[in-house]
Amino acid sequence: MNPPTHMNPVDGRYVQMETVDWVDFPAALSAGGIRWKLLNVAPEMGAWTAIFDCPEGSSFAPHVHIGPGEYFLTKGRMNVRGCADEGGATAAAPGYGYEPCRALHTRTCFLEDSEFYMTFLGPLNFVDDAGRTIALATRKDAPDAWEAATGV
Ligand code: ZN
Repeated sequence: MNPPTHMNPVDGRYVQMETVDWVDFPAALSAGGIRWKLLNVAPEMGAWTAIFDCPEGSSFAPHVHIGPGEYFLTKGRMNVRGCADEGGATAAAPGYGYEPCRALHTRTCFLEDSEFYMTFLGPLNFVDDAGRTIALATRKDAPDAWEAATGV
């Protein structure tokens, strides 16, 4: 059996993004109907890359970025680390952001219909209000969730 396409060892990869269907992002880790497309996994870096479709009012559950991440907000507006008035960022498309190791994102929320692309280096540690881990999403869990949702 061949590995799923996004797990094949690669020298490079090209994804025609509109040919990949959106999949619901796990509801335990988000609210408001966020969908995603897993674009790549790079085990040699512990990296994974995805694009997210985030309706107005949607949000991600609180999490800590174990490693850094970079994003490109291609559409809409998003509050990260609170918002600009709380020491965080209010990103407006087209906007770029870098989130460092250990960045705590208590509530990443979307002020209008939004879309962003992000590469994660290392896992996301989803936490409860007391900071206890409820889910550790690694570069292995990302494709596992994707395969469970899509069958490929
Ligand atoms: Zn985050």
